Amino acid sequence: MIPALGVASEIYPLVKTGGLADVVGAMPAALRPYDVDLRTLVPGYPRVMASLAARETLLSYDDLFGGPATLVAGKAGELDLIVLDAPHLFERGGNPYLGPDGKDWVDNWRRFAALGFAAADIGLGKVPSFVPAVVHPHDWQAGLAPVYLRFAGANAKSVLTIHNLAFQGQFSASIFADLKLPPEAFSINGVEYYGGVGYLKGGLHFADAITTVSPTYAEEITTPGNGMGLDGLLRTRRGVLSGIVNGVDVDVWNPATDTHLIANYGPGRLRRRAENKREIERRFALAPGDGAIFAVVSRLTWQKGLDLLAAAIDLLVANGARLAVLGSGDAAIEDPFRVAAAVHRGHVGLVTGYNEPLSHLLQGGADAILIPSRFEPCGLTQFYGLRYGCVPVVARVGGLADTIIDANDAALSAGVATGVQFFPVDAGGLERGLKHALDLYAQPDTWESLQKRGMRHDVSWDKSAGRYAAIYKSLAGGGSA
Ligand code: ADP
Repeated sequence: MIPALGVASEIYPLVKTGGLADVVGAMPAALRPYDVDLRTLVPGYPRVMASLAARETLLSYDDLFGGPATLVAGKAGELDLIVLDAPHLFERGGNPYLGPDGKDWVDNWRRFAALGFAAADIGLGKVPSFVPAVVHPHDWQAGLAPVYLRFAGANAKSVLTIHNLAFQGQFSASIFADLKLPPEAFSINGVEYYGGVGYLKGGLHFADAITTVSPTYAEEITTPGNGMGLDGLLRTRRGVLSGIVNGVDVDVWNPATDTHLIANYGPGRLRRRAENKREIERRFALAPGDGAIFAVVSRLTWQKGLDLLAAAIDLLVANGARLAVLGSGDAAIEDPFRVAAAVHRGHVGLVTGYNEPLSHLLQGGADAILIPSRFEPCGLTQFYGLRYGCVPVVARVGGLADTIIDANDAALSAGVATGVQFFPVDAGGLERGLKHALDLYAQPDTWESLQKRGMRHDVSWDKSAGRYAAIYKSLAGGGSA
């Protein structure tokens, strides 16, 4: 067994604000068959502390970035956790990153420096009962771990995973003096980033291997258009950068057993989806009918391209389709859908807020799931769409490009298509994608073949877990990934 330490600021089912938590929560079980003993270091938020059973103190600090702290091992359900219990940093309610005013906690730099520092201590062997060969930090919140490991001369190797390059952990240079790093770390060959301190930047500089969540996103982030300031560094690290797509929990997301559906089904009983469709009509106040229902389940942010969709509503309605949007986020993106729901009563429905059961119902009853993202590191919703026979209609970017096979003539005749892709991601591109989807929907046999093929597609963690394990093994064996 290779001992490995995951490091992250979220883990499903304890603390989740996005796909990061799902990945971090799924990896330990997915990697076990590959002989990896993956434990995960997470901050001691109240929910984590309350869930922790069979606690064992591993290491104590009199003063870790402003207060006493303890590393505690324990189980939370099936998860093997190491928790950084530091009440001065993490004993706070609500969101892991934001205070009650909706703004970042002002001491986030200290909170997540502590997380990286503690990870490096474990990597240095300061917990004799668990000495990882590989430390695997996720995103900027754990980004300093490779930096601390390198400056402490640790034997453990590091793999840093980028889930979304838009979040980088940038702080003012004034914090550097308190980071417990040697002066030379504040340089272009260290954590210095455009005159300030960059946590993700530092991690990317020192990690032994870098992964992101799809091969196409791994390419995209090395370009100025998508590198968000880090493309130059990522180009120099291209040799250790790879893309591994996420999987999904195929037990939670299974249309044959999903308790959030009115009617369960498999590829042989697709007609039963109609009962779920009727329920969607009720929940979204849509007029009953045979026309396609296009669904959206998304954060409402610029990244997700839903402003483009709002501009295309007339096209959908004019073609007899209906639109059901479940989302939460920016009011400016939400408002046009609210207006459209009033103007096109019965054709457009909007439900705001985060609603897990309703997201399952949409996948189980809508005809197509729309994902017009401007960029998408991996994306999960298209996997749920495949699994539920809800045909993905997606922008050809990032993980969406890698996981959906466009129903062009060649793919249709070869019998491999699973959805519709469009590009470029602008009003014209989306319009062409919607027209293509409507055209395919008008051919019931073709549509059904897309649904069935998608449902057969392997969206489990199995293959990707093997790729992570291969990286761990090559690093633990002294090679480069
Ligand atoms: P991101 O992590 O960028 O938000 P992903 O597609 O990787 O995008 O993951 C989003 C996850 O959140 C999916 O599981 C999706 O079903 C879920 N989700 C997004 N918005 C909502 C919502 N309003 N209600 C329920 N689930 C949602």
